[in-house]
Amino acid sequence: MAKGKTILVLGGGVGGLVTASRLRNKLPRRHRIVLIEREAQFIFQPSLLWLIVGQRSSEQISRPLSVLERKGIELVRGNIDHIDPENRTVRVGESSMLPTTWSLLSVRILRLRQSLVLLRQDTTSIA
Ligand SMILES: Cc1cc2nc3c(=O)[nH]c(=O)nc-3n(C[C@H](O)[C@H](O)[C@H](O)COP(=O)(O)OP(=O)(O)OC[C@H]3O[C@@H](n4cnc5c(N)ncnc54)[C@H](O)[C@@H]3O)c2cc1C
Repeated sequence: MAKGKTILVLGGGVGGLVTASRLRNKLPRRHRIVLIEREAQFIFQPSLLWLIVGQRSSEQISRPLSVLERKGIELVRGNIDHIDPENRTVRVGESSMLPTTWSLLSVRILRLRQSLVLLRQDTTSIA
């Protein structure tokens, strides 16, 4: 059997969650799907409008990201500080270095813009 790959999904907004879930559904369990997110809760942003006018509570528009673990998606809580495409590592916080086969960027911050290089095509099949 082929060796498992590690796929890091950077950012647990709606883009990251959908990406991680779709990959988990499609890939055999020998491949790790790891989602990195600094917040503990996912907030459905469009519903913030209802929160402001008092028609929703914060509990109604958010969910703990920890539920992902039950679906076979590993969760790493922390700030993504650095992405090293050459060595294929992502640094989370001060010391934690995560090796990756692929990284999928799903954060909307300009500071990490240079890391889009990680999205380059890789010809190896992981199915
Ligand atoms: C009030 C409001 C109403 C909206 N209404 C609509 C609508 O009706 N229809 C529509 O299509 N869209 C709507 N949007 C926009 C929609 O919510 C966004 O387009 C969508 O949330 C973007 O998702 P994303 O996953 O790309 O980014 P984000 O939701 O920004 O997710 C990025 C995630 O990455 C994490 N992150 C960022 N940097 C780091 C880091 N360095 N380390 C670790 N984690 C990090 C963040 O915490 C975040 O969870 C609305 C937005 C708002 C605010």
